[in-house]
Amino acid sequence: MPVSDHALVLAWQQVLELSRLEPGQTITVLTSASTHPQTMSTAITAAQTMGAIVNRLDLPPVNGEKALSRDALAYLGTTPLTGNHAAIAMLKASDLVLDLMTLLFSPEQMEILETGTRILLAVEPPEILLRMVPNEGDRARVKAAAARIEAARSMHIVSDAGMDFHCPLGQFPVISEYGFVDEPGRWDHWPSGFVLTFPDDNTAHGRIVLDKGDILLPQKCYIAEPMEFTVEAGYVTHIEGGVDAALLREYMESFEDPEAYAISHIGWGLQPRAKWSTLGLYDKEATIGMDARAFEGNFLFSLGPNNEAGGSRTTACHIDIPVRHCTVRLDGVDVVRRGKVLDD
Ligand code: FE
Repeated sequence: MPVSDHALVLAWQQVLELSRLEPGQTITVLTSASTHPQTMSTAITAAQTMGAIVNRLDLPPVNGEKALSRDALAYLGTTPLTGNHAAIAMLKASDLVLDLMTLLFSPEQMEILETGTRILLAVEPPEILLRMVPNEGDRARVKAAAARIEAARSMHIVSDAGMDFHCPLGQFPVISEYGFVDEPGRWDHWPSGFVLTFPDDNTAHGRIVLDKGDILLPQKCYIAEPMEFTVEAGYVTHIEGGVDAALLREYMESFEDPEAYAISHIGWGLQPRAKWSTLGLYDKEATIGMDARAFEGNFLFSLGPNNEAGGSRTTACHIDIPVRHCTVRLDGVDVVRRGKVLDD
């Protein structure tokens, strides 16, 4: 359902206040061919009402001919910033970048963040942004979960469906996504509300079992029959199941990259305003599926790169899979039990 410009301006003001925007700071709104016009115009208005200096940088899209879908998260690799020194300089000179384009993790983004520039990604449609305007409570809850992962050396995930998946921890940092950027050099995504880390390289092992109704992204589908992944030494070695598994296998094979099968980020959803059921209500091109990634109590795991956390693995293929009804244990202690978050 459409939302008013007024409501979206107020939402942006809240997000910008949480992101510590001060009068006189420089904001660059990064846009491209798929940027939502209302999101852009209301971001610019909100930033101006708060006394910021506002720029817009519009860059042409890349990788369209290589990706198998229109989803911005479906193909990682070069970005419109690759080799674009003028654009990189503009973003480095900005205090805050509102990424309405989907820049994604790249060496250029890391370089910009290292200068202290904060980057907030916001590409879901306006009504989803409005439903999940972040607040301090989201931050506190995600930070508390992050602290629990930081103190742990193993994550073990089980389910009645047959999941039995082991991930040694400690090599990579924990990443908190709560929807605003309140520290220099911070990247975040509005909407979000989940915590993640990465298993130590070449160590994750066991069996990942998806049940009917679990979600594949960027496929943006609810699977119709169970699917099982065998994981050995950090990589998926077999994907078994029915037609959903066959479709996933062919999609992943198209990248011709063994790194596509590596276990990437692992964590769980903490956002009560995100819903498992929402994906079924949307056209596939209208959303990138943040409800699915963030809904409370999911176990979210992914396949592909780990350069987002400072690892060396890059691959164009990235699959995110939120799984319901799992129990997640850190060093033997349940933090999610059968899909219900157990807060401290
Ligand atoms: Fe992911």
